[in-house]
Amino acid sequence: MAQDVLCEVANCVHNREGQKCGASEIFVVSHRGNKAETSQETDCKTFEPSGL
Ligand code: SF4
Repeated sequence: MAQDVLCEVANCVHNREGQKCGASEIFVVSHRGNKAETSQETDCKTFEPSGL
């Protein structure tokens, strides 16, 4: 289980100081069903825009 999730998406409401994710859990999805071949084919579905 991941202890720290680092994330560069500064305009997410969950993003904290030091590029850390403050969400209690995150849901990572694939663009290709339930499999992926590269990291570019994955995304964080927990993202919520902060309006920045
Ligand atoms: S919820 Fe996803 S997009 Fe938002 S800070 Fe966490 S990892 Fe990044």
